[in-house]
Amino acid sequence: MEYDVIMIGSGPGGYTGAIRCAQLGLKTAIIEKYPALGGTCLNVGCIPSKALLDSTEHYYNAAHTFAEHGIKLEHLQVDLAQMIARKASVVDQTTKGITYLMKKNKIDEYHGVGSFVDPHTIKITKTDGSEQTITGKNIIIATGSKPSSFPSMPIDKKRVITSTEALTLKEIPKHLIVIGAGVIGAELGSVYARIGAKVSFVEFFDSMIPTMDKTMGKELQKVIKKLGADFYFSHKVTKVENKGDEVVVSMDTPKGEQTTLTGDYCLVSVGRRPYTEGLNLEAAGLKTDERGRIEVDEHLRTSVPHIYALGDVIRGAMLAHKAEEEGTFIAETIVGQKPHIHYRLIPGVVYTWPEVASVGYTEEEVKKEGIPYKVGSFPFKALGRARASMDVDGLVKVLAHKDTDEILGVHMIGARAADMIAEAVTAMEFRASAEDVSRMSHAHPTYTEAFKEACLAATDNRAINI
Ligand SMILES: Cc1cc2nc3c(=O)[nH]c(=O)nc-3n(C[C@H](O)[C@H](O)[C@H](O)COP(=O)(O)OP(=O)(O)OC[C@H]3O[C@@H](n4cnc5c(N)ncnc54)[C@H](O)[C@@H]3O)c2cc1C
Repeated sequence: MEYDVIMIGSGPGGYTGAIRCAQLGLKTAIIEKYPALGGTCLNVGCIPSKALLDSTEHYYNAAHTFAEHGIKLEHLQVDLAQMIARKASVVDQTTKGITYLMKKNKIDEYHGVGSFVDPHTIKITKTDGSEQTITGKNIIIATGSKPSSFPSMPIDKKRVITSTEALTLKEIPKHLIVIGAGVIGAELGSVYARIGAKVSFVEFFDSMIPTMDKTMGKELQKVIKKLGADFYFSHKVTKVENKGDEVVVSMDTPKGEQTTLTGDYCLVSVGRRPYTEGLNLEAAGLKTDERGRIEVDEHLRTSVPHIYALGDVIRGAMLAHKAEEEGTFIAETIVGQKPHIHYRLIPGVVYTWPEVASVGYTEEEVKKEGIPYKVGSFPFKALGRARASMDVDGLVKVLAHKDTDEILGVHMIGARAADMIAEAVTAMEFRASAEDVSRMSHAHPTYTEAFKEACLAATDNRAINI
């Protein structure tokens, strides 16, 4: 069978790109190694983690805030098996939705490991060992990523686990040690802290979510501390050992002393690595860089012009919506259009509660690049909407250019920040100034008023409600 485009991998980058190719009239095939489509994001990433975050947040509120709202509950219990079953059903419905979309767009779906035979030919090896080859005028590698680890932290998937196992635990850990307080560690750590686990975060850097604006890390630590979590910042893990019913984590303190933590589970969330195993890249004349990523140019083309790559397997943020934009970008490039992705305006979100969301420059980056800037910030506790819902933790911080007032970065921690950040992205895509946003009407009472107020604060300190 011959195709205009063969997509290898069906994650958010792969399935979005395949749909856009089909919309543009290209005869398209998609190959997925696993039975379900949707990749990391739908099966063991974004969707299942958000399902568990939502369930555990409901429980936490029922246990801690409902009484103040005037709702009395007795005999409140966590049914972890039901939480995990609901999550599985959300995943099932979502992945089936992708199968439906493939059919609707007349995309041929193949299941098996795709590997290059030559630059235009892909062999598909199914689980029963049978093989089939298909050819493509264009090939897109969208094979994503896998959790990474260090030799000192051997993953056994029982006590020393990755995010994948953390999404299907059969019991609530008594003491969960989370190595890496980045986005995935913060999210899954808060899932179990909310339902009663003692959670300890061990982080090599000096704050939570260390790649985001420093203010966000500090604020997030404050709210996660309320869940009873402990933090070991600037600690270097030297050894993780499964001792049967316990895990012992050895680490160096900032003072260079050695110490240990003992828990019943250890979640290793130290990042993800690009996944290219089984692709037989050599047969296509392709190589990976020193970090295992497939190298691409600004058109997302590899060194072989008809082979493209996207998402977690190439450079840039490992985010579902970044992969999606790249899938669309490649499809449009193939048909001769001139698409564009503004990488700095891809938002980053942490789905803790409150949520953290960010777009553009961090304060650390503007300082480093010597860009003259001013800051406006506004706390959630000064918002009527936040007080009504009792979600008063957090703030919005706006960085604007000192001379032109153009918004350079927006960093939010607070209720519904994940949804609110879209307004900041829109404003920044249109190169709005802080004053532009502060002169736009925002419905009252809403959380979005915090963004308007932070923009007012950045515009000559004009915030009204503080
Ligand atoms: C716990 C967790 C939570 C996350 N939460 C979020 C979030 O809230 N928001 C967000 O933006 N991002 C989130 N991410 C990251 C997000 O999942 C990834 O950035 C995204 O899935 C990358 O998409 P992709 O299309 O590049 O690859 P993937 O989603 O990794 O998909 C790649 C697919 O390719 C398949 N494949 C690999 N090799 C082959 C082969 N040789 N042949 C056939 N098929 C192959 C794989 O089986 C897989 O299905 C999360 C990740 C994790 C682990």
